[in-house]
Amino acid sequence: MLLANLREEVLEANLDLVRNGLVLSTFGNASGVSREDGLIVIKPSGVPYSEMKPADLVVTDLHGKVVEGSLRASSDLPTHAALYRAFPAIGGIAHTHSEYATAWAQARKPIPCFGTTHGDYFHGAIPVTEVMTDEEINGEYEANTGVVIIRAFEKIDPLAVPAVLVSNHGPFAWGADARKAAENAWMLEAAARMAFLTVSINPHAAAIGKTLHDRHFLRKHGKKAYYGQERNKE
Ligand SMILES: [Zn+2]
Repeated sequence: MLLANLREEVLEANLDLVRNGLVLSTFGNASGVSREDGLIVIKPSGVPYSEMKPADLVVTDLHGKVVEGSLRASSDLPTHAALYRAFPAIGGIAHTHSEYATAWAQARKPIPCFGTTHGDYFHGAIPVTEVMTDEEINGEYEANTGVVIIRAFEKIDPLAVPAVLVSNHGPFAWGADARKAAENAWMLEAAARMAFLTVSINPHAAAIGKTLHDRHFLRKHGKKAYYGQERNKE
């Protein structure tokens, strides 16, 4: 079996989504990539999370062509593949329909950074994609979902803001590996919920100031990071 370790890791990342309350029914999927082998490992389509085994995961190349696996891959595979090709620094992707992040996606509103919880993980607002055109929807829909995400990141570093809201659909998050992507999906949902509560309390709430935002993000990420223990540094 190819990529046994990565299969285990991607399975755990999928279960992280369940454990963190981000999964409604079978909505959602996580994947990981081996850059060395140029191969993606992704959740199979429609298999209940509680029954999923490492062998059920599907291995494909970076264009979504199946290399190993007897089950059909998640239908969102072409979106994952497009993101792996466009963002070479990422190692994992998680997609969910988590409630608050999906609500912001449905409202077609970016999630402003109102505080340090958001600022620790995302260096800026969570962008929302353009609405997909009828041609994009009627064509290669899942691949085109990747196209609109990539377009939303023309001026944003995907490592600094490792998540997006797809208009009228839901969030995609990513990270250095599959578990990190699942963690970012979890923190995105927390930030989405807190932002909703913040604007409910004060519709005119201001976004966090740049100095505080930079301080929080940069103490955890980048060259001068000093948060946590040495081995946890990214
Ligand atoms: Zn979806």
